[in-house]
Amino acid sequence: MTIVLGCIADDFTGATDLAGLLARSGVRVSLRIGVPEHPPSETSPFEVIALKSRTAPVKDAIAETRAALEWLRAAGAERFFWKYCSTFDSTPEGNIGPVAEALMHDLETDQTIYCPAFPENERSIFMGNLFVGQQPLAESPMKDHPLTPMTDSNLMRLLAPQVSKPVGLIDRLTVARGADAVKESLARHRTDGTAHMVIDAVANTDLEIIATACRDMPLMTGGSALAMPLPALYLADGLLANDVPKQKTHLLAAETIILSGSCSAMTNVQVAEYIASGAPSYQLDPMTLTQTGPEPILAWLIEQDLSQAPLIYATADHASVKAAQAKLGVGKAGTLIEQTLAACALAARDAGARRIIVAGGETSGAVTKALNVTQLDISTEIAPGVPWTYCTSDGHTIALTLKSGNFGAETFFSDAKAKLDGS
Ligand code: ADP
Repeated sequence: MTIVLGCIADDFTGATDLAGLLARSGVRVSLRIGVPEHPPSETSPFEVIALKSRTAPVKDAIAETRAALEWLRAAGAERFFWKYCSTFDSTPEGNIGPVAEALMHDLETDQTIYCPAFPENERSIFMGNLFVGQQPLAESPMKDHPLTPMTDSNLMRLLAPQVSKPVGLIDRLTVARGADAVKESLARHRTDGTAHMVIDAVANTDLEIIATACRDMPLMTGGSALAMPLPALYLADGLLANDVPKQKTHLLAAETIILSGSCSAMTNVQVAEYIASGAPSYQLDPMTLTQTGPEPILAWLIEQDLSQAPLIYATADHASVKAAQAKLGVGKAGTLIEQTLAACALAARDAGARRIIVAGGETSGAVTKALNVTQLDISTEIAPGVPWTYCTSDGHTIALTLKSGNFGAETFFSDAKAKLDGS
């Protein structure tokens, strides 16, 4: 199957988010974890490669992304989408900008767009400023993120220090005038040498206009929602046939484990809600873990009735995270939790869990690595940007969902269980 769009995402939950929105079209979407070692035996019209490069050193992020681009190109892709978080998560040293410039260089293109808006999840861009709900990004809970605190809301100001070429804006007033107006503005800025164009979007209709205008660019960059209109546009363009392969589903045992390493405001609410519903749960504390190692939690896990979908979580409020980070260091606290949750995933799988729910981007990376999962087939959507997926781990078919910190409703964990039972 010809690849219509080759996508590269800078973290795991971001990749499933993108894949899930593309899969709304019903077309088969395949997600590969890391750059595969070999060329594919089979491809889907939409191929997504999930990297773990969001907080990696710039040099490593560039090298990994270039390798992903090469793999996709060798597999036949000609158009590309570089996906990052809808809250533009990046460290002051960058990664979003430098990676985009490296991709532009390899694709020999002199302009790309930046549109992290995700209206269904209340991320909107107006006059180049990113909002989370009604709050500017830098006043939202993202200001306290453990790894990528965001302290500026202006995308041009965030991007400019990360890139070598000029940054420009296509504002909402232009987007409101339609796809041709966007195209004209892009062309004008291109003549002026403006390589990096931030584009406003506050609603899905804006994203449709932008996708219509930009669908044939060699490289688009943005949040997942910008890619959502693309399957329908490519179908209309005749690039996708009406009989393209559809998604698969599987009926799996109900044994479930829920692992949460996200400390995002929304995950804190979701964990509290799930515990209040009476589900069995165990809280991991980084300080205690340094003393005991993973044995106590693994012993607890083995005693659990997995049909009750127990929850193991390190999710904590901002003050507790800061305290743990001050004692252990940011990296060590994070790795300790990620490794422990990864060990729990393995133990749960070996104890019969066939449905695994993970909250947290970095956490998802550690869990999929431990489970030795390399490819996910995208299935039913639980919440905007969070699909169930199917994968193979140690010869077992497993349903896996990877939730980005801020996504999902308050009842996300119960919603995820219910969605699979109903499908
Ligand atoms: P999100 O998707 O919300 O950003 P991530 O898993 O990507 O979630 O990032 C959360 C980071 O915080 C992970 O590295 C995780 O191990 C770490 N972490 C989780 N719980 C704690 C805690 N109680 N103290 C310190 N760090 C923690």
